[in-house]
Amino acid sequence: MSSPDSTAPSHFISAIIEQDLSEGRVKQVVTRFPPEPNGYLHVGHAKSICLNFGLAEQYGGVCNLRFDDTNPAKEDQEYIDAIQEDVRWLGFQWHGEVRYASSYFQQFYEWAIHLIKTGKAYVCDLSAEEASSYRGWATEPGKDSPFRNRSIEENLALFEKMKNGEFDEGACVLRAKIDMSSPNMNLRDPILYRIRKMPHHQTGDTWCIYPSYDFAHGQEDAIEGVTHSICTLEFADHRPLYEWFIENLPVPAKPRQYEFGRLNLNYTVTSKRKLKKLVDDGVVSGWNDPRMPTIAGMRRRGYSPQGIRHFCNSLAVAKTDGVVDVAQLEFFIREDLNDNAPRAMCVLNPLRIVISNFAEDSVEQLIAHNHPSKPELGDRTIPFTKTLYIDKADFSEDTTLSKKQFQRLVIGDYVRLRGAYVIRADEVIKTSGGEITEVICTLVEGTVGANPPEGIKARGVIHWVSATYGKRATVRLYDRLFTHEAPDRGEDDFMQFVNPHSLEMLGNCWIEPSLADAKNEQCFQFEREGYFVADRYDHNATQPVFNKTIGLRDSKAK
Ligand code: ATP
Ligand code: MG
Repeated sequence: MSSPDSTAPSHFISAIIEQDLSEGRVKQVVTRFPPEPNGYLHVGHAKSICLNFGLAEQYGGVCNLRFDDTNPAKEDQEYIDAIQEDVRWLGFQWHGEVRYASSYFQQFYEWAIHLIKTGKAYVCDLSAEEASSYRGWATEPGKDSPFRNRSIEENLALFEKMKNGEFDEGACVLRAKIDMSSPNMNLRDPILYRIRKMPHHQTGDTWCIYPSYDFAHGQEDAIEGVTHSICTLEFADHRPLYEWFIENLPVPAKPRQYEFGRLNLNYTVTSKRKLKKLVDDGVVSGWNDPRMPTIAGMRRRGYSPQGIRHFCNSLAVAKTDGVVDVAQLEFFIREDLNDNAPRAMCVLNPLRIVISNFAEDSVEQLIAHNHPSKPELGDRTIPFTKTLYIDKADFSEDTTLSKKQFQRLVIGDYVRLRGAYVIRADEVIKTSGGEITEVICTLVEGTVGANPPEGIKARGVIHWVSATYGKRATVRLYDRLFTHEAPDRGEDDFMQFVNPHSLEMLGNCWIEPSLADAKNEQCFQFEREGYFVADRYDHNATQPVFNKTIGLRDSKAK
């Protein structure tokens, strides 16, 4: 495995593992990451991936990637492919081949027969509604199904017919015979097998009965020799059932389940079902839309694998659920980009500048460092020409603005163009409607890399791009996808909190020439504007497209 992080977090699960190893209960740690291929992975899954792969790596063990593909109705090959790509992109490599729960279906079937033969499972004909009324409530014991005492022979014959497709969907199920009055609802004769007359993406038409999550998961772990089966807290109540199967079946190993609190982020939904709705309803352009909290979306937004891993490793692995501020994720992304992203210039809202004392067809190649503190990132040349663009927001005609209030270009005053000359704004050209089209300026000779003469003081430093050699680009700016801090934790439908202004497209931005050659997915700091990434799919040298990853500082901080 290849995660380069050396800072291994310690928490209650690592403590358990250390004890298991030191007391000899476990020889080699085996973990697994077990997604159901019914959607793309999201930032919550990233936490689980970093935990499972991270622990295996930390303790010299291995981690499997296993698709928990027991429900063909919602699963798809597209998700299987995307999940593998995302795990690898995060920097992890699973042990051996990818595993599939579906490759153990024959074994599960035989174990179901084992339970029937030992009097611990039965075929039940109650309808779904009847079964639920028989189940009782948390405070009220359930009632035994009238089919609970069928003979072993009858159950074997009926289960065989289920498997052979002789019953309709919903006609009957196979249930474990445990305890209808258990205070734990999961032990009230849970379902082991359902009839689903539906082909499966891996097993085709081989099966028309499919095991439940509960009947599959622990046995999958046992088959793979998983030592520490780590899942989220909502499965804590399922643990007695997990253990019941392990105790009552001739499984090859005895895995143990441990639960930790899932990652919830404010202003974010982390449920594949809800994310799928955003995709299906066209609220976003797809699972990899840069506004999505999916791994594919964060990737396209310009988040780096190490930034995401550092965030995940900063999270508590605790026995309670909590909500993490999305600013914490952004902190790690920004920190990583600040360290690694080369600097460049891009004008988002161009205003034309004409330098009156620079020759029309002349060009001066200026040298700029790509990173202020990393000389190894090299230098680049930036062409300086008579006509330039600066940002509209960097110019004002209001001469009453103090130097402190407005550290940019004001008519009659001086500003430094980043890495180039100090210039003075002399005259504003306007349309008949009063819109500024151009500002005529004069440059101060000898000010590249040098202070201006006595008596001249630049108000500040602004970025610019040559209008002659710069390239036009499209830049996409993003805001939060949801306006509500907890979009899916109240009574209201989360869809009503979708931010209608989460995407802004700027089609007339100007980038310095070297940026047109940016590779897809390459990240930059656009000076004074923030961090941007060349879009993974849409960017090319003739039509450059950049996505804003994040601002230079946390603009929403209280
Ligand atoms: P979702 O609710 O988004 O569909 P899930 O739990 O159904 O998520 P799975 O594909 O079953 O998705 O999850 C694979 C693994 O990732 C499981 O071990 C699960 O516990 C873990 N996981 C899922 N969501 C989170 C989260 N928000 N935080 C931490 N771990 C998570
Ligand atoms: Mg699930």
